Amino acid sequence: MRPREPACAPADPATDAVSVTARCRDRRRTLVSVRLQRQVVDYALRRRSLLAEVYSGRTGVSEVCDANPYLLRAAKFHGKPSQVMCPICRKEQLTLVSWVFGDQLGAVSGSARTTEELLAMASRYEEFSVHVVEVCRTCSWNHLVKSYVLGAGRPPKGSRTTQTAGNGARTVSE
Ligand SMILES: [Zn+2]
Repeated sequence: MRPREPACAPADPATDAVSVTARCRDRRRTLVSVRLQRQVVDYALRRRSLLAEVYSGRTGVSEVCDANPYLLRAAKFHGKPSQVMCPICRKEQLTLVSWVFGDQLGAVSGSARTTEELLAMASRYEEFSVHVVEVCRTCSWNHLVKSYVLGAGRPPKGSRTTQTAGNGARTVSE
């Protein structure tokens, strides 16, 4: 009964060190990218109510399975496979596509980007938003999963550091 290894250290000394290292690296990368996300908006509720409409027949399948060729191509080349089965056709696992938007991005705004590219952009730009869309490449179901803001943030105006009154401040002037 191990509750999911909390740390990267191998719980079992006999565990293959190489695979543990690789697993830790992957996990760390996921943690970093999650921590960088700001103003996260989750659209799970809207997704659920839309699917309820489709299942009840109030909304036609053709209305929700309308991914355009551009989105399908982005899913193929920039998408990230998810563990979630398509809620409409149940024939394949959904692909997640991250679209970037922002004034600073210029021509890049409105394009799909991989996780690696997002991380690189997060340190290069002050602020841009990311819209994650799930896509089924079989039936063309597509829906906005979540949106968030990435970026290094605005540099503080001036380089004035806040002085804290107390013992620490005195040592600076000595
Ligand atoms: Zn599908």
